[in-house]
Amino acid sequence: MDEGFTIKETVDILKKYRLTLNKKLGQNFLADKNILKKIVDSAELKPDDRVLEIGPGIGTLTRELAARAGKLVAVEIDSRLMPVLEETTSCLSNVKLINRDILKIDLRRLWEEVFSPGRVKVVANLPYYITSPVIMKLLEEDFPLESVVVMVQKEVALRMTAAPGTKDYGAITVGVQYYSRPHLIATVPPAVFIPPPKVSSAIVKMDIRKEQVFDVKDEKLLFLLVKKAFGHRRKTLLNALKGISGINDKEYVRRALESAGIDGNRRGESLSVEEFCKLANCMSKIR
Ligand code: SAM
Repeated sequence: MDEGFTIKETVDILKKYRLTLNKKLGQNFLADKNILKKIVDSAELKPDDRVLEIGPGIGTLTRELAARAGKLVAVEIDSRLMPVLEETTSCLSNVKLINRDILKIDLRRLWEEVFSPGRVKVVANLPYYITSPVIMKLLEEDFPLESVVVMVQKEVALRMTAAPGTKDYGAITVGVQYYSRPHLIATVPPAVFIPPPKVSSAIVKMDIRKEQVFDVKDEKLLFLLVKKAFGHRRKTLLNALKGISGINDKEYVRRALESAGIDGNRRGESLSVEEFCKLANCMSKIR
């Protein structure tokens, strides 16, 4: 591991290519070897691993990941960074660069074209303006994932790893924990980025669940239920979930809660992921 670019090297690369960083694209580049090492180590890469990096920037993380993996695909939206990436990864034959918006990519097709047949490890210092949509896209699409290591805002990391009944527990917590087991690896101060963001960051690793542990019959209904329950945090479940079925609402919700063994006076934020799943299954049964 050559330990990534230092602050000086990053500044020199930006100068050489006359690049100004685009705030709107979340361009805060990592320039700290210890944090870089933490991210790469937590991905636990093996020589035949397939890795997807989102937002490679000038390639600091890309080079370390490619040195340890079998194949690396990096998706970067900013075309101005492509010549830089081509240069910084030129000595690595296992890197494929794609100049696209990650949110517009058909992940299943990408997998079939470049990763199949193995599962993929995602590693990214995510652009913060699209953290949640990117995470949910990775988890919800039919993309064979093994693990995801991401740098996100600390506040989002706390939401991803929160326990029921706490202030950080919300819809994204249930989404993330339904599909994976998330771990908070480390918190990261703003000073390690160029330019430093306004908030602290954190590294989170999600180990994707191999089996359907919760056995949910209708995932669409589950996530509709979660959205409704957290859309009105202060309301009791009985009131917050009204309108979910369209017909004879309150009675339907009351019966579903009763058969799931959940008190209708509780609030959504107190339900565990398992309880949400149980309630969704009871709802689909009596629909
Ligand atoms: N990986 C680099 C690092 O660690 O220094 C850069 C990380 S920077 C926080 C986020 C990167 O994501 C930027 O290079 C930005 O241009 C890119 N990006 C922003 N929006 C994107 C999108 N929708 N699809 C792909 N890349 C995107």
